[in-house]
Amino acid sequence: MDDPSVLEIAQRRGAVLEQIDEAARRAGRDSGGVSIVAVTKGHAVDMARAAVEAGLATLGENRVQEAATKIPAVAGASWHLVGPLQSNKARRAVELFDVIESVDSVDLARRLDRLAAELRPGQTLAVLLQVNVDADPAKAGFEPSDLEAALAEVLALSNLEVRGLMTVGRQVARPEDARPTFQALRGLGERLRSGHPALGAELSMGMSDDYPVAIEEGATIVRIGRALFGERRAVR
Ligand SMILES: *Cc1c(COP(=O)(O)O)cnc(C)c1O
Repeated sequence: MDDPSVLEIAQRRGAVLEQIDEAARRAGRDSGGVSIVAVTKGHAVDMARAAVEAGLATLGENRVQEAATKIPAVAGASWHLVGPLQSNKARRAVELFDVIESVDSVDLARRLDRLAAELRPGQTLAVLLQVNVDADPAKAGFEPSDLEAALAEVLALSNLEVRGLMTVGRQVARPEDARPTFQALRGLGERLRSGHPALGAELSMGMSDDYPVAIEEGATIVRIGRALFGERRAVR
């Protein structure tokens, strides 16, 4: 299987943008309020370069180690970490990424806050708080009730800019089955923001199989891999 060309990626991007438009219209939303994180994990650096050429300016990776070889080799992109972050890789992650979407504990938030102060003084680090909405034992993230208890402390970390919430949905048979997860994340965000206005309004939810449903339910960031780049190989 050949990698898709820049032209093919651009065409797929066009098709995704069309789906985003339609989903936004169904929900009475402006599609300008939805951005794509193009997830290049499992693909070589050439694919990430081709993505930028095809007009995808924000890229995502789920492993620090894989990203460490790719990010410095790709010009003109900003990068989101979307996978679980171990504390021993936090320093490297702060060096590499523009946004860390996978902050899943107060300990990690505190560590990132310290590292941001050290590595980028005077400049905050943008993060999202990952929520395990479905209480899925296989998934990372704050339990909703734990997040409620921890939020004030996380928001007080002055070197972090907490832009909003992120979730990874369960594997579902039909996209429609993911809707309750997305509704739950949006509802949680609204509830938390009413008591904590410093919490940002971003909602990162939805992947290749279910992003239109996520947009109908309020996603502001969709994280899309396969719909843009095809099936992944194991690049580790
Ligand atoms: C891999 C991954 C994605 C993209 O998944 P696709 O199904 O390829 O669109 C999105 N979010 C996270 C956290 C991922 O690990």
